[in-house]
Amino acid sequence: MTNIDTKCVQGVYNPTNGEPRVMPIVQSTTFKYGSSDEMGKLFDLEAEGYFYTRLQNPTNDLVAGKIAELEGGVAGMLTASGMSAIFMAVFNICETGGHIVSTNAIYGGTYNLFGTTFKKMGIDCTFIDADSTEEEIQAAIKPNTKLIFGETLSNPGLVVLDIEKYARVAHKNGIPLMIDNTFATPVNCRTFEFGADIVVHSTTKYMDGHAVALGGAIVDSGNFDWEAHADKFPGLTTPDESYHGITYTKKFGKLAYITKATVQLMRDLGPMQSPQNAFYLNLGLESLHVRMPKHCENAKKVAEFLESNDKVAWVNCPMLKSNKYYDLAQKYMPNGTCGVIAFGLKCTREETKKFMDSLKLCAIVTHVADARTCVLHPASHTHRQMTDEQLIEAGVGPDLIRFSCGIEEADDIINDIKQALENM
Ligand SMILES: *Cc1c(COP(=O)(O)O)cnc(C)c1O
Repeated sequence: MTNIDTKCVQGVYNPTNGEPRVMPIVQSTTFKYGSSDEMGKLFDLEAEGYFYTRLQNPTNDLVAGKIAELEGGVAGMLTASGMSAIFMAVFNICETGGHIVSTNAIYGGTYNLFGTTFKKMGIDCTFIDADSTEEEIQAAIKPNTKLIFGETLSNPGLVVLDIEKYARVAHKNGIPLMIDNTFATPVNCRTFEFGADIVVHSTTKYMDGHAVALGGAIVDSGNFDWEAHADKFPGLTTPDESYHGITYTKKFGKLAYITKATVQLMRDLGPMQSPQNAFYLNLGLESLHVRMPKHCENAKKVAEFLESNDKVAWVNCPMLKSNKYYDLAQKYMPNGTCGVIAFGLKCTREETKKFMDSLKLCAIVTHVADARTCVLHPASHTHRQMTDEQLIEAGVGPDLIRFSCGIEEADDIINDIKQALENM
């Protein structure tokens, strides 16, 4: 099975004679064993097997395995949300006293986690411009820096990350590059092929794609050599006293990073995805390769329509030739970026609200990356307490409309926008 389309539909779950054709939900918190000794070996990590769903569950493992296969990684795990995936992925290799470098073109929740909550835990973050030169990225690195973080395609700015440039600087400093690949998905960008080491996802977005289940995922490429930089990553390369002194890299080799995140962090922190949500997520994955091209096709058509309309002040879509990130998008996402675009109208904040309220097909919701087209005006919704000046400072202009193109017919979406423009 080499093609990603086939992996989306049939990856990892291969039933044998008489087994369910559809991947079953193992809705059980616990698992039975014949003897205390057998159970004891599981707790000592001497044998493999399920014992408690907070650590591992067969449904979750299949879905995590499928996402790992789509990304081209060696191992993956599911988490309860995208935020818990990002927290665990970083905390697995960066503890109190550590430092991370992140671009500032990232999801708002991640920005808060890195800038505020991590600080309370004794982890520092230096934010840099996503378009930084190699020298500028290098200048942000400190002796205690444990990783560099960025988004393939940022939410909501749609900044395209030059992954190879960031990977070069990370590897020169003996640290991994961690990428949030939520918006592009592995269908449009496999970041490991460009040098990324660890990928995180909010599966809540395109992977689920139907707005039914919150979830996250972490995938390890298996390419980063933790032993070669053992002094930086003692959590992986020295004995874990909470597991009878096992050393993850020695015992688990390329699976060390995900094993530690599972048996240590998931055990102690517990943000596990429910097997029911993993089942929904898998249904989404089965059509991801069909939905992504349609999302992109619609986004490009809508962006082209907006660009040619004189009521529109500006359009941000990296698939447009006029876009600042067009060349980078062609390099990293030649088949398309995603369904999300942003634009502004030549009018007041109040008139923008009127335009939004006149939309009929396109729904006003906080979500993005849904099969249904959705739209948000941060100045009237998520950022409504801010003045125009504060909005501009936050990089979200008072006129910015975030528009997430669904998989309806493009003409219907465009006609809805047309009538709303006439109504404002
Ligand atoms: C939504 C989102 C997150 C957070 O994911 P949740 O599933 O909502 O916790 C993280 N990163 C990106 C890029 C997102 O769009």
